[in-house]
Formats: sequence, C-alpha cells, structure tokens
Amino acid sequence: MHLINADLHCHSNVSDGTLTPEAVAERAAANGVALWSLTDHDEVGGQHRAHAAAASLGMAYLPGAEISVTFAGKTVHIVGLGFDPDDPHLLQGLADTRNGRERRARDIGAELAKVGIPNAFEGALKFVGNPDLISRTHFARYIVEIGVCADPHDVFRRYLAEGKPGFVPHSWARLSDAVRWITGAGGVAVIAHPGRYDFTPNEEFALFSEFKAHGGRGVEVVTGSHTVAEYARYADMAIEFDLLASRGSDFHDPSESHTDLGALPDLPGKVTPVWAALQDRILRP
Ligand code: AMP
Ligand code: MN
Ligand code: MN
Ligand code: MN
Repeated sequence: MHLINADLHCHSNVSDGTLTPEAVAERAAANGVALWSLTDHDEVGGQHRAHAAAASLGMAYLPGAEISVTFAGKTVHIVGLGFDPDDPHLLQGLADTRNGRERRARDIGAELAKVGIPNAFEGALKFVGNPDLISRTHFARYIVEIGVCADPHDVFRRYLAEGKPGFVPHSWARLSDAVRWITGAGGVAVIAHPGRYDFTPNEEFALFSEFKAHGGRGVEVVTGSHTVAEYARYADMAIEFDLLASRGSDFHDPSESHTDLGALPDLPGKVTPVWAALQDRILRP
C-alpha cells in the first residue's frame, strides 16, 4: 500500500503549469506513476481530460484540485482528492474562489509598473492557458522572459512574495468552505505542503486543529515542497493529529520544477497513505 508510486499533486496549463493535462498524464506514466491526480489551482476544468488520458495510459486516477484559502492572514492551500468533479456546490465554490484573480492581476501589474516593470499584466497574459486562472506564476514567467530575473524563484524572492513590491494581498476561500466543498462532493481534504507557510507553532496547531474540526482528513508529508527533515516532521504531525498522509510532486513544468512527476521518496512506513481511504473513489483503467 505504501509502495505504490502515487503522485497526488501537480498542475497543467488549466492553471499555472505549462503542459496540457494529456502531456502531464504522459509524463507521469512514463515516470512510473501508478496512481495519479491532477490538482490544478481553484479549477476542475481539466479533470475529464486528465481522467481520459490516465485511462488510455493504464493509470489509476483520482479527481483533484488545490484550493486557495486564507487562514490567519496567510494563503494556505488545501488539496481535494477523489471528489465528484461535476458537483454543483464544488463548481460554484471554485468559481467564486477564482473570481477576483483578474482584478488582482491588474493590481499586480500596476504595482510592478511602479518599480520599473511596465505592462506586466499584458505580458503575463501571454503565458496564461486559462483566462480565469491568471496567477503569480504567469507574472514570474514574463519577468524571466524580459530578462529582469534569472528564474521564477528569483522573481518571487524579489517581486512577488509577501512583502515584496509586486505582492497584492488577496482574500481567498475560507478554510471551512474549502473543506466543505471537497467533502460535500465525496472527496478527502488534505493540507498541502504545510512546511511552506512560515506559521508560528501556535498558528500551525490552529490550522491543523481547525482543519480537522471542519472534516479535513489528510496532510501532505512527502512533497516536492518539503525537505527531508520536513517529511519526518509532518509524518509525526499526521500521527499526532490522526491524519492520512499524502504524496505529490507539485510538478508545474519540466524545466522549472525541481521534483519531477512520481520522483519522490516513499511515505514513511508509520503513516497511513491517503489512498488507503480512497479505494472506492479511485477511477481504475
Ligand atoms: P497565486 O495562486 O497566483 O498566488 O500563485 C501561487 C503559485 O505561485 C504557487 O502555486 C506556485 O506555483 C508559485 N510560487 C509561489 N511561491 C513560489 C516561489 N518562491 N518560487 C516559485 N514559484 C512560486
Ligand atoms: Mn502553482
Ligand atoms: Mn500550493
Ligand atoms: Mn501546487
């Protein structure tokens, strides 16, 4: 059960990845992924294509999404797995969460113009695959293209991370709503890459406690966003909070992403994999 090559977190050009859902499926299968989920940001528009591609490649599939949430003044990501991608409440919640991205992006463009990067909104749009889902990643790709920064990570560090000149605060979904949309559609909610949030221990405890109280059931333990020390730390947290453990690369692009699809260590033996609780939701080829 632990040793299955599951990759339950990655992105296509339906959000801020660069490959089509079909191309992500092919790359996952080529890398030996046996259970796959495409988890585009705030969007399930690629789910039927991803499932069809997985089926044609002989790969088991779980519908997925990564929902943007505001908690304790910071952005937290909640991955949903194994839900019905046509559930009307989930679709409406995601549409509401996406709403406001264009306004925010125009504001990011205006802030970047003040620090000497004009026309960034128009520039970012050239990289957008889904007009409803303009993201900071698209700005990062544009700013690399014009030669201001060497790579997207550098753009975040200098311009787009919280506190930097191009950062525009935004209010995303509520934690309770995101968990409810996922569970209401028959899925399991998972805290994405908890090591990335820079929370104090008290804030992190509050996130895990409230997430559980709302019906959340899982946490990412092995992810491309965690260090080896964080695999161990969040395996301990999974046990302490009685949460299922997930595994996913957070792959976005062959050259940008340092962790390729399926190229992750196995989950530590002491945790229960999230797919153990999703056996009846897995779409088998
Ligand atoms: P947004 O949803 O528009 O706020 O964009 C968030 C996305 O930006 C994340 O999903 C990542 O893909 C990307 N991102 C965030 N921080 C970084 C970073 N330091 N380096 C590269 N990409 C990042
Ligand atoms: Mn992303
Ligand atoms: Mn994320
Ligand atoms: Mn992600």
